[in-house]
Amino acid sequence: MTESQDMARLEALLFVAGDPVKLDELASLLDKTEEEVEALLEQLTRRYQRDPQSGLILRELEGAAALASAPEQAELVEAFYGKVREQKLTDAAYETLAVIAYNAPATRAEIETVRGVDSDSVVARLIERGLVREVGVLDAPGRPALLDVTEQFLLDFGLKSTRELPAVDLLMYDTVTRFTEGEKDMHSQAAPKPLVIAIDGPSGSGKSTVARLLSEHLGILTLDTGAMYRALGYKALRSGIQPSDGEAVRVMLASTVMEIDLSDRVQKTLVDGEDMTPYIRTPEASKAASDISVLPVCRDYCVRIQRELGQRQALILEGRDIGTYVFPDAPVKFFITASPQARAQRRLKDLEKAGVETSLEEVMQEMEKRDRQDAERELAPTKRAPDAIHIDSSGMTAAEVVQAMIDVIRQKERQQPGWTSQSGDGTQ
Ligand code: C5P
Repeated sequence: MTESQDMARLEALLFVAGDPVKLDELASLLDKTEEEVEALLEQLTRRYQRDPQSGLILRELEGAAALASAPEQAELVEAFYGKVREQKLTDAAYETLAVIAYNAPATRAEIETVRGVDSDSVVARLIERGLVREVGVLDAPGRPALLDVTEQFLLDFGLKSTRELPAVDLLMYDTVTRFTEGEKDMHSQAAPKPLVIAIDGPSGSGKSTVARLLSEHLGILTLDTGAMYRALGYKALRSGIQPSDGEAVRVMLASTVMEIDLSDRVQKTLVDGEDMTPYIRTPEASKAASDISVLPVCRDYCVRIQRELGQRQALILEGRDIGTYVFPDAPVKFFITASPQARAQRRLKDLEKAGVETSLEEVMQEMEKRDRQDAERELAPTKRAPDAIHIDSSGMTAAEVVQAMIDVIRQKERQQPGWTSQSGDGTQ
Protein backbone atom coordinates (compact mmCIF):
# COMPACT_ATOMS: atom_id res chain seq x y z
CA MET A 1 0.00 0.00 0.00
CA THR A 2 1.39 3.45 -0.92
CA GLU A 3 1.74 6.28 1.54
CA SER A 4 -1.04 8.22 -0.20
CA GLN A 5 -3.37 5.27 0.24
CA ASP A 6 -2.45 5.05 3.92
CA MET A 7 -3.18 8.75 4.32
CA ALA A 8 -6.56 8.35 2.62
CA ARG A 9 -7.45 5.44 4.92
CA LEU A 10 -6.39 7.40 7.99
CA GLU A 11 -8.43 10.41 6.92
CA ALA A 12 -11.51 8.27 6.28
CA LEU A 13 -11.24 6.65 9.70
CA LEU A 14 -10.94 9.98 11.50
CA PHE A 15 -13.82 11.38 9.49
CA VAL A 16 -16.28 8.61 10.36
CA ALA A 17 -15.14 8.45 13.99
CA GLY A 18 -15.92 12.11 14.67
CA ASP A 19 -14.56 11.79 18.22
CA PRO A 20 -10.83 11.52 18.94
CA VAL A 21 -9.37 8.09 18.10
CA LYS A 22 -6.48 6.71 20.11
CA LEU A 23 -3.18 6.22 18.29
CA ASP A 24 -2.94 2.53 19.21
CA GLU A 25 -6.42 1.97 17.80
CA LEU A 26 -5.46 3.75 14.57
CA ALA A 27 -2.27 1.72 14.42
CA SER A 28 -4.14 -1.54 14.80
CA LEU A 29 -6.84 -0.60 12.25
CA LEU A 30 -4.28 0.52 9.68
CA ASP A 31 -1.86 -2.28 10.50
CA LYS A 32 0.94 0.21 11.25
CA THR A 33 3.14 1.02 14.22
CA GLU A 34 2.21 4.03 16.36
CA GLU A 35 5.30 5.85 15.08
CA GLU A 36 4.14 5.31 11.50
CA VAL A 37 0.68 6.60 12.39
CA GLU A 38 2.25 9.67 14.01
CA ALA A 39 4.23 10.36 10.82
CA LEU A 40 1.04 10.05 8.74
CA LEU A 41 -0.79 12.39 11.13
CA GLU A 42 1.96 14.94 10.77
CA GLN A 43 1.64 14.82 7.00
CA LEU A 44 -2.12 15.14 7.18
CA THR A 45 -1.79 18.14 9.50
CA ARG A 46 0.57 19.81 7.04
CA ARG A 47 -1.76 19.06 4.14
CA TYR A 48 -4.70 20.79 5.86
CA GLN A 49 -2.46 23.70 6.83
CA ARG A 50 -1.32 24.13 3.22
CA ASP A 51 -4.78 23.97 1.68
CA PRO A 52 -6.56 27.35 2.04
CA GLN A 53 -9.79 25.85 0.73
CA SER A 54 -10.04 23.21 3.43
CA GLY A 55 -12.54 23.75 6.23
CA LEU A 56 -10.89 21.02 8.31
CA ILE A 57 -7.91 20.76 10.61
CA LEU A 58 -6.34 17.82 12.37
CA ARG A 59 -6.18 18.10 16.15
CA GLU A 60 -3.69 15.92 18.02
CA LEU A 61 -4.46 15.22 21.65
CA GLU A 62 -2.39 13.23 24.10
CA GLY A 63 -2.25 9.79 22.48
CA ALA A 64 -5.18 10.47 20.14
CA ALA A 65 -6.21 12.45 17.07
CA ALA A 66 -9.41 13.91 15.65
CA LEU A 67 -10.63 15.76 12.61
CA ALA A 68 -12.21 19.08 13.51
CA SER A 69 -13.62 22.08 11.75
CA ALA A 70 -11.18 24.95 11.17
CA PRO A 71 -11.46 27.81 13.71
CA GLU A 72 -12.57 30.17 10.90
CA GLN A 73 -15.72 28.09 10.50
CA ALA A 74 -16.67 28.36 14.20
CA GLU A 75 -19.65 30.65 13.60
CA LEU A 76 -21.12 28.39 10.97
CA VAL A 77 -20.62 25.30 13.11
CA GLU A 78 -22.16 27.00 16.14
CA ALA A 79 -25.20 27.90 14.07
CA PHE A 80 -25.50 24.30 12.93
CA TYR A 81 -25.26 22.83 16.42
CA GLY A 82 -27.84 25.17 17.85
CA LYS A 83 -28.76 26.33 21.27
CA VAL A 84 -26.70 24.44 23.84
CA ARG A 85 -23.39 25.34 22.31
CA GLU A 86 -24.52 28.87 21.43
CA GLN A 87 -24.59 29.83 25.08
CA LYS A 88 -21.41 31.48 26.20
CA LEU A 89 -19.71 30.04 29.26
CA THR A 90 -20.24 32.11 32.39
CA ASP A 91 -17.36 33.31 34.56
CA ALA A 92 -18.40 30.73 37.15
CA ALA A 93 -18.20 28.01 34.51
CA TYR A 94 -14.72 29.11 33.41
CA GLU A 95 -13.56 29.22 37.01
CA THR A 96 -14.96 25.76 37.74
CA LEU A 97 -13.41 24.38 34.55
CA ALA A 98 -10.03 25.78 35.58
CA VAL A 99 -10.31 24.26 39.05
CA ILE A 100 -11.11 20.86 37.56
CA ALA A 101 -8.50 21.05 34.78
CA TYR A 102 -5.70 21.97 37.17
CA ASN A 103 -6.69 19.61 39.95
CA ALA A 104 -8.28 16.64 38.23
CA PRO A 105 -9.55 14.24 39.27
CA ALA A 106 -11.41 16.38 41.80
CA THR A 107 -14.54 15.86 43.89
CA ARG A 108 -17.39 18.38 44.07
CA ALA A 109 -16.44 19.12 47.70
CA GLU A 110 -12.87 19.94 46.66
CA ILE A 111 -14.09 22.24 43.90
CA GLU A 112 -16.27 24.00 46.44
CA THR A 113 -13.39 24.41 48.87
CA VAL A 114 -11.32 26.10 46.18
CA ARG A 115 -14.13 28.30 44.82
CA GLY A 116 -15.71 29.00 48.19
CA VAL A 117 -19.27 28.59 46.82
CA ASP A 118 -21.67 25.77 46.04
CA SER A 119 -20.71 24.47 42.61
CA ASP A 120 -23.19 21.64 42.01
CA SER A 121 -25.30 23.36 39.37
CA VAL A 122 -22.37 24.78 37.44
CA VAL A 123 -20.72 21.33 37.43
CA ALA A 124 -23.98 19.82 36.18
CA ARG A 125 -24.08 22.32 33.29
CA LEU A 126 -20.48 21.59 32.38
CA ILE A 127 -21.28 17.85 32.30
CA GLU A 128 -24.30 18.59 30.11
CA ARG A 129 -22.11 20.53 27.67
CA GLY A 130 -19.68 17.62 27.49
CA LEU A 131 -16.78 19.60 28.98
CA VAL A 132 -16.56 17.66 32.25
CA ARG A 133 -17.24 14.04 33.07
CA GLU A 134 -17.19 11.66 36.01
CA VAL A 135 -14.16 9.41 35.83
CA GLY A 136 -14.63 7.30 38.96
CA VAL A 137 -15.44 7.49 42.63
CA LEU A 138 -13.24 8.28 45.59
CA ASP A 139 -12.69 5.45 48.03
CA ALA A 140 -13.99 7.46 50.96
CA PRO A 141 -17.25 7.71 52.95
CA GLY A 142 -20.12 8.56 50.61
CA ARG A 143 -17.97 7.49 47.61
CA PRO A 144 -18.03 10.97 46.02
CA ALA A 145 -17.61 11.14 42.24
CA LEU A 146 -14.27 12.21 40.78
CA LEU A 147 -14.49 14.72 37.94
CA ASP A 148 -12.14 15.43 35.06
CA VAL A 149 -12.28 17.54 31.93
CA THR A 150 -13.16 15.79 28.65
CA GLU A 151 -11.47 15.50 25.29
CA GLN A 152 -14.11 17.95 24.07
CA PHE A 153 -12.68 20.49 26.53
CA LEU A 154 -9.20 19.88 25.13
CA LEU A 155 -10.49 20.28 21.58
CA ASP A 156 -12.42 23.48 22.38
CA PHE A 157 -9.44 25.04 24.11
CA GLY A 158 -6.90 23.87 21.53
CA LEU A 159 -4.92 21.76 23.98
CA LYS A 160 -3.28 18.37 23.57
CA SER A 161 -3.43 17.66 27.26
CA THR A 162 -4.06 19.54 30.49
CA ARG A 163 -0.30 19.62 30.96
CA GLU A 164 -0.23 22.34 28.30
CA LEU A 165 -2.22 24.66 30.53
CA PRO A 166 -0.16 27.65 31.59
CA ALA A 167 1.50 27.10 34.93
CA VAL A 168 -0.25 28.79 37.82
CA ASP A 169 0.09 28.51 41.54
CA LEU A 170 -1.37 25.31 42.85
CA LEU A 171 -4.97 26.33 43.18
CA MET A 172 -5.97 23.57 45.47
CA TYR A 173 -2.87 23.33 47.58
CA ASP A 174 -2.71 27.01 48.27
CA THR A 175 -6.36 27.37 49.02
CA VAL A 176 -6.66 24.25 51.09
CA THR A 177 -3.52 25.10 53.01
CA ARG A 178 -4.68 28.61 53.83
CA PHE A 179 -8.12 27.29 54.67
CA THR A 180 -6.93 24.62 57.10
CA GLU A 181 -4.26 26.88 58.59
CA GLY A 182 -6.91 29.49 59.21
CA GLU A 183 -9.15 26.93 60.90
CA LYS A 184 -6.33 25.63 63.06
CA ASP A 185 -5.16 28.93 64.41
CA MET A 186 -7.22 31.95 63.59
CA HIS A 187 -4.80 34.30 65.34
CA SER A 188 -1.51 32.97 64.08
CA GLN A 189 0.33 35.26 61.65
CA ALA A 190 2.84 32.53 60.68
CA ALA A 191 2.82 31.93 56.92
CA PRO A 192 2.45 28.27 55.91
CA LYS A 193 5.74 26.72 54.87
CA PRO A 194 6.14 26.28 51.14
CA LEU A 195 5.57 22.86 49.68
CA VAL A 196 8.68 20.76 49.05
CA ILE A 197 8.57 17.67 46.83
CA ALA A 198 11.67 15.47 46.99
CA ILE A 199 12.61 13.26 44.04
CA ASP A 200 15.67 11.08 44.55
CA GLY A 201 17.18 8.21 42.63
CA PRO A 202 20.26 7.06 40.72
CA SER A 203 21.45 8.53 37.44
CA GLY A 204 19.33 7.88 34.37
CA SER A 205 16.28 6.88 36.41
CA GLY A 206 14.34 9.63 34.60
CA LYS A 207 14.19 11.98 37.62
CA SER A 208 14.96 15.13 35.65
CA THR A 209 12.35 14.48 32.98
CA VAL A 210 9.59 13.64 35.43
CA ALA A 211 10.55 16.53 37.72
CA ARG A 212 10.21 18.90 34.76
CA LEU A 213 6.85 17.46 33.71
CA LEU A 214 5.55 17.46 37.27
CA SER A 215 6.70 21.04 37.63
CA GLU A 216 4.78 22.00 34.50
CA HIS A 217 1.71 20.18 35.72
CA LEU A 218 1.72 21.58 39.24
CA GLY A 219 2.96 25.03 38.32
CA ILE A 220 5.85 25.05 40.78
CA LEU A 221 9.54 25.37 40.07
CA THR A 222 12.00 22.52 39.99
CA LEU A 223 15.64 22.46 41.11
CA ASP A 224 18.11 20.03 39.54
CA THR A 225 20.59 19.65 42.41
CA GLY A 226 22.90 17.42 40.35
CA ALA A 227 23.61 20.43 38.12
CA MET A 228 25.06 22.22 41.16
CA TYR A 229 27.58 19.44 41.88
CA ARG A 230 28.31 19.19 38.18
CA ALA A 231 28.99 22.93 37.94
CA LEU A 232 31.37 22.86 40.90
CA GLY A 233 33.12 19.71 39.59
CA TYR A 234 33.51 21.42 36.23
CA LYS A 235 34.92 24.58 37.79
CA ALA A 236 37.49 22.43 39.63
CA LEU A 237 38.50 20.65 36.40
CA ARG A 238 38.79 23.93 34.55
CA SER A 239 40.90 25.40 37.34
CA GLY A 240 43.25 22.40 37.24
CA ILE A 241 42.02 21.14 40.63
CA GLN A 242 41.39 17.47 41.33
CA PRO A 243 37.67 17.32 42.29
CA SER A 244 38.53 14.78 45.00
CA ASP A 245 41.20 17.01 46.59
CA GLY A 246 39.40 18.19 49.74
CA GLU A 247 41.80 20.97 50.68
CA ALA A 248 42.07 22.44 47.18
CA VAL A 249 38.28 22.32 46.78
CA ARG A 250 37.81 24.04 50.15
CA VAL A 251 40.03 26.91 49.00
CA MET A 252 38.22 27.04 45.64
CA LEU A 253 34.79 27.20 47.28
CA ALA A 254 35.87 30.03 49.58
CA SER A 255 36.02 32.26 46.50
CA THR A 256 33.19 30.71 44.51
CA VAL A 257 29.80 32.36 44.09
CA MET A 258 27.04 30.05 42.93
CA GLU A 259 23.67 31.43 41.90
CA ILE A 260 20.65 29.52 40.73
CA ASP A 261 18.41 31.32 38.27
CA LEU A 262 15.01 29.68 38.00
CA SER A 263 13.26 32.54 36.22
CA ASP A 264 11.97 31.40 32.79
CA ARG A 265 11.45 28.02 34.49
CA VAL A 266 14.66 26.73 32.92
CA GLN A 267 17.47 26.39 35.43
CA LYS A 268 20.65 28.36 34.93
CA THR A 269 23.45 27.27 37.25
CA LEU A 270 25.79 30.22 37.46
CA VAL A 271 29.27 29.98 38.91
CA ASP A 272 31.06 33.30 39.38
CA GLY A 273 28.53 34.89 37.06
CA GLU A 274 28.92 32.33 34.24
CA ASP A 275 26.12 29.94 33.28
CA MET A 276 27.68 26.48 33.41
CA THR A 277 24.72 24.69 31.81
CA PRO A 278 26.33 24.11 28.39
CA TYR A 279 29.43 22.42 29.84
CA ILE A 280 28.22 20.10 32.57
CA ARG A 281 26.65 17.13 30.76
CA THR A 282 29.84 15.46 29.52
CA PRO A 283 31.12 12.16 31.03
CA GLU A 284 34.08 14.11 32.52
CA ALA A 285 31.72 16.54 34.27
CA SER A 286 29.64 13.59 35.57
CA LYS A 287 32.72 11.98 37.07
CA ALA A 288 33.92 15.30 38.51
CA ALA A 289 30.46 15.85 40.07
CA SER A 290 30.48 12.44 41.69
CA ASP A 291 34.02 13.00 43.03
CA ILE A 292 33.45 16.50 44.37
CA SER A 293 30.07 15.65 45.90
CA VAL A 294 31.75 13.22 48.30
CA LEU A 295 33.45 16.13 50.07
CA PRO A 296 31.57 17.46 53.13
CA VAL A 297 32.66 21.03 52.34
CA CYS A 298 31.06 20.77 48.90
CA ARG A 299 27.86 19.17 50.20
CA ASP A 300 27.48 21.86 52.86
CA TYR A 301 27.96 24.51 50.20
CA CYS A 302 25.24 23.09 47.92
CA VAL A 303 22.79 21.99 50.62
CA ARG A 304 22.76 25.49 52.15
CA ILE A 305 21.64 26.95 48.81
CA GLN A 306 19.08 24.16 48.27
CA ARG A 307 17.48 24.72 51.68
CA GLU A 308 17.39 28.46 51.19
CA LEU A 309 15.57 28.06 47.88
CA GLY A 310 13.14 25.50 49.31
CA GLN A 311 12.26 27.71 52.25
CA ARG A 312 11.51 30.65 49.99
CA GLN A 313 9.06 29.05 47.54
CA ALA A 314 7.26 25.85 46.69
CA LEU A 315 9.85 23.66 45.00
CA ILE A 316 10.45 20.24 43.51
CA LEU A 317 14.03 19.21 44.23
CA GLU A 318 15.61 16.27 42.44
CA GLY A 319 18.85 14.62 43.49
CA ARG A 320 20.22 11.84 45.65
CA ASP A 321 19.72 12.97 49.24
CA ILE A 322 16.79 15.39 49.16
CA GLY A 323 14.38 13.17 51.11
CA THR A 324 17.01 11.82 53.51
CA TYR A 325 19.19 14.85 54.21
CA VAL A 326 18.29 18.15 52.57
CA PHE A 327 14.57 18.15 53.41
CA PRO A 328 14.00 15.10 55.64
CA ASP A 329 10.56 16.50 56.59
CA ALA A 330 9.37 17.04 53.02
CA PRO A 331 5.71 16.01 52.91
CA VAL A 332 6.04 14.20 49.56
CA LYS A 333 9.02 12.08 48.63
CA PHE A 334 9.63 9.87 45.64
CA PHE A 335 12.46 7.48 44.95
CA ILE A 336 12.69 6.69 41.24
CA THR A 337 14.64 3.73 39.94
CA ALA A 338 14.90 1.82 36.65
CA SER A 339 16.81 -1.23 35.46
CA PRO A 340 20.50 -0.61 34.60
CA GLN A 341 19.73 -1.23 30.90
CA ALA A 342 16.86 1.25 30.81
CA ARG A 343 18.93 3.86 32.63
CA ALA A 344 21.95 3.43 30.37
CA GLN A 345 19.76 3.65 27.26
CA ARG A 346 18.24 6.92 28.49
CA ARG A 347 21.64 8.40 29.38
CA LEU A 348 23.03 7.34 25.99
CA LYS A 349 20.17 9.12 24.24
CA ASP A 350 20.81 12.30 26.27
CA LEU A 351 24.52 12.19 25.49
CA GLU A 352 23.90 11.58 21.80
CA LYS A 353 21.54 14.53 21.74
CA ALA A 354 24.27 16.64 23.34
CA GLY A 355 26.66 15.52 20.58
CA VAL A 356 28.81 13.29 22.85
CA GLU A 357 30.10 10.17 21.09
CA THR A 358 30.05 7.08 23.27
CA SER A 359 28.70 3.51 23.39
CA LEU A 360 26.12 1.73 25.51
CA GLU A 361 28.81 -0.37 27.23
CA GLU A 362 30.84 2.71 28.05
CA VAL A 363 27.78 4.48 29.46
CA MET A 364 26.83 1.43 31.53
CA GLN A 365 30.31 1.12 32.99
CA GLU A 366 30.59 4.80 33.81
CA MET A 367 27.13 4.79 35.33
CA GLU A 368 27.74 1.72 37.45
CA LYS A 369 30.94 3.21 38.83
CA ARG A 370 29.29 6.53 39.61
CA ASP A 371 26.22 4.91 41.17
CA ARG A 372 28.42 2.76 43.40
CA GLN A 373 30.41 5.78 44.53
CA ASP A 374 27.20 7.81 45.14
CA ALA A 375 25.52 4.96 47.03
CA GLU A 376 28.49 3.88 49.13
CA ARG A 377 29.81 7.26 50.23
CA GLU A 378 29.56 8.04 53.91
CA LEU A 379 27.81 11.39 53.71
CA ALA A 380 24.34 11.64 52.18
CA PRO A 381 24.51 8.55 49.93
CA THR A 382 21.84 7.82 47.33
CA LYS A 383 19.21 6.22 49.52
CA ARG A 384 15.50 5.84 49.63
CA ALA A 385 13.99 7.65 52.62
CA PRO A 386 11.77 5.27 54.61
CA ASP A 387 8.72 7.40 53.79
CA ALA A 388 9.55 7.86 50.08
CA ILE A 389 7.27 6.29 47.48
CA HIS A 390 9.28 3.97 45.26
CA ILE A 391 8.53 4.04 41.52
CA ASP A 392 10.34 1.67 39.18
CA SER A 393 10.15 3.54 35.87
CA SER A 394 11.72 0.77 33.71
CA GLY A 395 8.65 -0.11 31.67
CA MET A 396 6.90 3.23 32.05
CA THR A 397 6.77 6.36 29.91
CA ALA A 398 7.60 9.66 31.61
CA ALA A 399 3.92 10.63 31.38
CA GLU A 400 2.92 7.45 33.22
CA VAL A 401 5.44 8.10 35.99
CA VAL A 402 4.16 11.66 36.39
CA GLN A 403 0.58 10.45 36.49
CA ALA A 404 1.52 7.97 39.24
CA MET A 405 3.16 10.82 41.18
CA ILE A 406 0.15 13.08 40.79
CA ASP A 407 -2.10 10.27 42.02
CA VAL A 408 0.06 9.95 45.14
CA ILE A 409 -0.02 13.71 45.74
CA ARG A 410 -3.79 13.90 45.33
CA GLN A 411 -4.31 10.93 47.60
CA LYS A 412 -2.10 12.45 50.26
CA GLU A 413 -3.98 15.69 50.04
CA ARG A 414 -7.28 13.91 50.52
CA GLN A 415 -6.07 11.87 53.46
CA GLN A 416 -4.47 14.85 55.15
CA PRO A 417 -5.95 18.17 54.11
CA GLY A 418 -3.43 20.90 54.87
CA TRP A 419 -0.48 18.53 54.78
CA THR A 420 1.53 20.93 52.64
CA SER A 421 1.98 23.16 55.66
CA GLN A 422 3.63 20.34 57.55
CA SER A 423 6.75 20.52 55.44
CA GLY A 424 9.85 20.85 57.62
CA ASP A 425 12.03 23.88 57.73
CA GLY A 426 14.84 21.92 56.18
CA THR A 427 17.25 22.10 59.07
CA GLN A 428 18.27 19.10 61.05
O1 C5P B 1 21.74 13.89 38.93
P1 C5P B 1 23.04 14.02 38.21
O2 C5P B 1 23.46 12.76 37.50
O3 C5P B 1 23.13 15.21 37.34
O4 C5P B 1 24.12 14.25 39.38
C1 C5P B 1 25.51 14.32 39.14
C2 C5P B 1 26.26 13.86 40.37
O5 C5P B 1 26.06 14.81 41.41
C3 C5P B 1 25.77 12.53 40.95
O6 C5P B 1 26.44 11.43 40.37
C4 C5P B 1 26.10 12.68 42.42
O7 C5P B 1 27.41 12.27 42.68
C5 C5P B 1 26.00 14.16 42.67
N1 C5P B 1 24.79 14.53 43.37
C6 C5P B 1 24.77 14.44 44.75
N2 C5P B 1 23.67 14.84 45.44
C7 C5P B 1 22.61 15.33 44.80
C8 C5P B 1 22.59 15.40 43.38
C9 C5P B 1 23.70 14.98 42.69
O8 C5P B 1 25.73 13.99 45.34
N3 C5P B 1 21.57 15.76 45.52
